Amino acid sequence: MTFKDLGIIEPILKALEAEGYTHPTPIQEQSIPILLEGKDLLGCAQTGTGKTAAFSIPIIQHIHNEVVHEKGRRKVKALIVTPTRELAIQIGENCTKYGKFAGVNNTVIFGGVKQSAQTRALNNGVDILVATPGRLLDLMNQGYISLKDVKYCVLDEADHMLDMGFIHDIKKVIAALPKQRQSLFFSATMPQSIVKLSQSILGTPEKVTIKPEQATADKVEQALYYVSKKSKTKLLVHLIQQNEIDSVLVFSRTKHGANKIVKQLDKVQIKAEAIHGNKSQGARQRALENFKNRETRVLIATDIAARGIDVSQLELVINFDLPNIPETYVHRIGRTGRAKNSGIAISFCDIEERAYLRDIQKLIDFKIPVVTQHPFADEVEELPTKKAPTRGQKNHTRPQRRSGGTDNRSSDRRANSSENRGDGNRNSNSSGSESRSSGSSDNRSGNKPSGNWRSKRR
Ligand code: AMP
Repeated sequence: MTFKDLGIIEPILKALEAEGYTHPTPIQEQSIPILLEGKDLLGCAQTGTGKTAAFSIPIIQHIHNEVVHEKGRRKVKALIVTPTRELAIQIGENCTKYGKFAGVNNTVIFGGVKQSAQTRALNNGVDILVATPGRLLDLMNQGYISLKDVKYCVLDEADHMLDMGFIHDIKKVIAALPKQRQSLFFSATMPQSIVKLSQSILGTPEKVTIKPEQATADKVEQALYYVSKKSKTKLLVHLIQQNEIDSVLVFSRTKHGANKIVKQLDKVQIKAEAIHGNKSQGARQRALENFKNRETRVLIATDIAARGIDVSQLELVINFDLPNIPETYVHRIGRTGRAKNSGIAISFCDIEERAYLRDIQKLIDFKIPVVTQHPFADEVEELPTKKAPTRGQKNHTRPQRRSGGTDNRSSDRRANSSENRGDGNRNSNSSGSESRSSGSSDNRSGNKPSGNWRSKRR
């Protein structure tokens, strides 16, 4: 199957060729024909599958075919709403690439920066508007944006928009759209809340699902290191030095944790930078550029700030902390193994994270291979039993496990949600909820051979 077989027009084919795209990815192969027919689409897919091209190419094609009839200043004909600034910028860049020979333009709006450049771009006329919800509503309320000519609407990463508390903003935006439109709805996960939201937006959609397993296990080599919380940084340094890694994206669950890792790496002359919601948009962009240019070897990111990080040839992702939401693991490791590259995802797991690990493995339906041969191995490999500690007994080794329906995920989701809503003035100053120290002292086996994932791959 080629892009031409999918019915894509010449100017877009030319742009795709310039990008080096030879074949459509599965989500593109399945979605593009549906979208070119003008049908609504419910897509269950994560970033890294090629979903941006899957939804933006048909939109560009429709607009290209219709725009000849448009007179005067360009009106917003397509609206793409996405949760974070990084994702918005990324989608805008991709639309520019795919639309450059089709004469279809776009602009990107997001919070945390002055609005004047954005309102100027809007006043000049825009075909495709890519926006985060907060700034979008803000500029709509100020009269800079009218959605009355929108024919194509995309809700991207819907699960994250709900996690980040954007539900009311989304509903207001949807209410302002014309009834007659093509709607596209993408989410990596489909819990009941998302299904309900999608039903309120879509007509009778076609459905396309790219399973996380397909997106992860197939292309990303995964490895697990049991390590105590206090030895994680030592293990990180060890892996970077041992394997001469010159580019790695490291995930930290909290902003404070990310800053701490940067400081610790700095002490051993490993150049690292952090991106998270407490950093200004400029600082985040600079850190990302430095990482892309390989000036910074290690980029430490929190989940929300990392959304949309698109670094080609990213070979390695390290989960310094395991995420408490299993789907986030899939999102994270999707940073590597993108479209045509394969990648490696290494996860550190301390005693308190065993319950998270169990949930992740259940979701991906795969037992992540454990690397035991490293100097910081935490030898307690079995999950502790669920039994609560008896009175007087310290519970410092008990993992923060989820129990029944009332688990700690909802509060953690709220903690995450305040970090970055694509709307700088809403950033929280909280450093997030770092899990308690396990207190387990286990840095024992200095005489063990060291963990070398490069040699293990061969
Ligand atoms: P996305 O899931 O939209 O974030 O895309 C992930 C990455 O895959 C981006 O770097 C795209 O430029 C790239 N990509 C998308 N479609 C293709 C394709 N058909 N061939 C090669 N690379 C692609």
